[in-house]
Amino acid sequence: MNNKPTIAVIGAGLGGAAAGALLQRAGYTTKVYEQAPTFSRLGAGIHLGPNVMKVMRRIGIEEQLNSMGSHPDHWFSRDGMTGEYQSRIPLGEFARQNYGAAYITVHRGDLHELMVASLDQEKLYFDKRLVDVEDRGDKVVLTFADGTTDEVDLVIGADGVNSCIREKLLGTEAPIYSGWVAHRAIISAEKLKAYDLDFEACVKWWSEDRHMMVYFVTGDEKEYYYVTGVPEPEWSHGTSFVESSQQEMRQAFEGYHPTVQALIDCTETVTKWPLLERNPLPLWHDNRLVLLGDACHPMKPHMAQGAAMAIEDAAMLVRCLDEVGAEHYQQAFELYRTNRFERASRVQKVSHDNTWLRYDEDPAWVFGYDVYEVPLKQPEAASEGSPV
Ligand SMILES: Cc1cc2nc3c(=O)[nH]c(=O)nc-3n(C[C@H](O)[C@H](O)[C@H](O)COP(=O)(O)OP(=O)(O)OC[C@H]3O[C@@H](n4cnc5c(N)ncnc54)[C@H](O)[C@@H]3O)c2cc1C
Repeated sequence: MNNKPTIAVIGAGLGGAAAGALLQRAGYTTKVYEQAPTFSRLGAGIHLGPNVMKVMRRIGIEEQLNSMGSHPDHWFSRDGMTGEYQSRIPLGEFARQNYGAAYITVHRGDLHELMVASLDQEKLYFDKRLVDVEDRGDKVVLTFADGTTDEVDLVIGADGVNSCIREKLLGTEAPIYSGWVAHRAIISAEKLKAYDLDFEACVKWWSEDRHMMVYFVTGDEKEYYYVTGVPEPEWSHGTSFVESSQQEMRQAFEGYHPTVQALIDCTETVTKWPLLERNPLPLWHDNRLVLLGDACHPMKPHMAQGAAMAIEDAAMLVRCLDEVGAEHYQQAFELYRTNRFERASRVQKVSHDNTWLRYDEDPAWVFGYDVYEVPLKQPEAASEGSPV
């Protein structure tokens, strides 16, 4: 293999698109294979903390995101019933000054579209579902559902919670249903004008066993969004989401503050998603295959950092390939794992516990992280879970 191997990224989700864009900018021949025939603007929002915006800067889309997103001054946590403030976490100018980039909330579809557009379109292949991967030692053979094949030097599994590459490395194992669901709805802010209530730019309403996170997904504040966390003992639908209803929302948030009731009153469509997790994996890479994002550390979304971890992974992986030299890809992959495992596992744990920013705390360890500046830890000779 010469210095710049041919790399296949499996999956063009937020992690895969970040990996593809960063690899292509670093000069690697990189093909991105996505199973979906096309992407649609799914009704959902996403937080992008300063830790992610620093990666967006390298991809070259930070300014576009700053223009398209909402810039909350604070993350507020409030008691769901009484409305009492439990935390006021400064963002806005404070985040820019102290964490090195903005904290924004955006429409997930808009973000994804921008990230996918930043890929070399001639090396982006839709409708390509990977069904088999064979690491032959000196190259990897990919087989797709349409019967086509490809041969590449290295493969990045960015194929989400049911990753085909994870299965190849570790065998078949369904993700763990956490016992929680998330409802997601986008509301027209126009409708909210009928209420004499304050709809804050980023607020999480909490009670003992459930919550509702609410924020704008566009800079013009025309689209408001909520995403919940609600216990539901079983998920037997067999699909990644189902339709929910206003009635179900009213039941789930009975007794909640009038602001939450107004959001439910204004809800036109709402979907419900199972929240899936895995315990930290013992293996992130083997020979020419390596995992990132939900393929290796899916988590409950309660810190709003799942995609952030996938995007940080992508940036760290490219940094490690450059640092070690791609011809030493096994060392690069182990350096990557060494520098991501602890952080991703900690974020998984805090997300699982759902304690993030409920009360005042210093979020600098998450938002202040700069994947390009953090000193690299060297792998121990025989670190746990290391295949090399
Ligand atoms: C309700 C909810 C709210 C969330 N809110 C936030 C938030 O505010 N902030 C945040 O950072 N994170 C958030 N997350 C988490 C975030 O959505 C995920 O962590 C993130 O999408 C993971 O990105 P990924 O690229 O690893 O995987 P995915 O986004 O799942 O992408 C995987 C891609 O691979 C493709 N694929 C799968 N299998 C194959 C195959 N065999 N062949 C080819 N392609 C394949 C899929 O079609 C998909 O496009 C939230 C999650 C949920 C459920």
